[in-house]
Amino acid sequence: ARARVVVVGGGFGGATCARALHRAGFGVMLVEASPTYTACPFSNAVIAGLREMEGQRFGYQAIRREGVAVLHARATGVDGTARRLFTEDGTALPYDRLVLAPGIAPRLDAIPGYDAAAAEGLPHAWQAGAQTLLLRRQLEAMEDGGTVILTVPPNPYRCPPGPYERASLVAYYLKTRKPRSKLIVLDAKDSFSKQRLFEAAWAALYPGLLEYVPLSAGGGVTSVDAGERTVSTDFGDHRGEVINVIPPQRAAPVAAVAGAADRSGWCPIDPVTFESRLVPGIHVIGDAAIGGAVPKSAFAANAQGRVCAAAVAALLRGEEPAEPRLVNTCYSLVAPDYGISVAGVYRPRNGLLADIEGAGGTSALDAPAETRALEAAYAADWFRTVTEDVFA
Ligand code: FAD
Repeated sequence: ARARVVVVGGGFGGATCARALHRAGFGVMLVEASPTYTACPFSNAVIAGLREMEGQRFGYQAIRREGVAVLHARATGVDGTARRLFTEDGTALPYDRLVLAPGIAPRLDAIPGYDAAAAEGLPHAWQAGAQTLLLRRQLEAMEDGGTVILTVPPNPYRCPPGPYERASLVAYYLKTRKPRSKLIVLDAKDSFSKQRLFEAAWAALYPGLLEYVPLSAGGGVTSVDAGERTVSTDFGDHRGEVINVIPPQRAAPVAAVAGAADRSGWCPIDPVTFESRLVPGIHVIGDAAIGGAVPKSAFAANAQGRVCAAAVAALLRGEEPAEPRLVNTCYSLVAPDYGISVAGVYRPRNGLLADIEGAGGTSALDAPAETRALEAAYAADWFRTVTEDVFA
């Protein structure tokens, strides 16, 4: 019989990997809990009312039409020794190789007061869907003159520049719709992705409206109170009409169930094959994996899907997997016509995926407005291209 690969998670990483393996001639089953995928990139624009949710949703019809078997079920168990994946209803799926691409779960035990019930009042909106719309509605319902609080977790987490893009677009919404309001960003770090670019843009576009508080100035959140709508820090309490808590994260639960997550909550991997360091025969890609400098982005998950598929194909053929190079570019919007980017190239080194010095970089600090507008257009082009690659 043909070798059989089961892929869990039909997001940017898993759907890419499943299609690539199918195209390489292997039997693939893609197990995805949701009948529709809701993409996070550009969801900050949905929150700010610049875009509708429809543009974030993608189906699995094209993937199925191509010949990939798609099973809409939640994976709930893995027997790594017998090489079987179990779904919620007890179905056992045998595999020769298993690829896990389940994304993240918010840690609802990390910030005192921030549990599943609190997230219904103080949305994280870090998994796109109902949470995205909840945050948007809260901003819409807020009166002009209100305070919005956004809290940012320590590293590592999904989409390093994402919280700062969100802060920018929420500030844009307030500036254009509710100009007497205020946004306070409480960060559990002192430095972040594209920091100088963001801070220069904030000073130019949102002076007096957006207040950024780094860890050393009291940005570290110690607890939240959903009922009182307050966020506590070592330096004092903040009250907000709208509070967006982006909590610390970990790999989605199936990773731990499979034994592939370590004590950090993330999945250590071999940088050439993406095979789990903890369970042979299981590969982990996308946000769930850790293994060096590659950021948790859709761009990177898409690249890893392809690289992992090539490695799995080589292993199944009894060949030596090739040493990969990975590229990542993350665009952020600080306003609808103002985009900035960071790019990096990575390769295996000392057991990790290491940044190739000098191979990447960020947008120029002194770029003219036309360049910012072009980068905003490139961001939209990238999103169209990657979602067509993965889902069309
Ligand atoms: P996901 O895309 O989360 O896919 C995981 C899939 O697995 C989901 O469909 C889920 O339903 C499924 N799943 C989970 N568990 C199970 C299970 N047990 N059984 C079956 N199915 C399961 N990245 C960029 O590159 N550019 C951007 O501009 C960008 N902007 C962002 C903005 C925001 C606000 C956020 C939150 C993220 C952004 N990202 C961006 C990051 C990007 O969304 C993630 O890095 C990317 O989605 C990771 O892909 P993935 O395949 O690892 O996981």
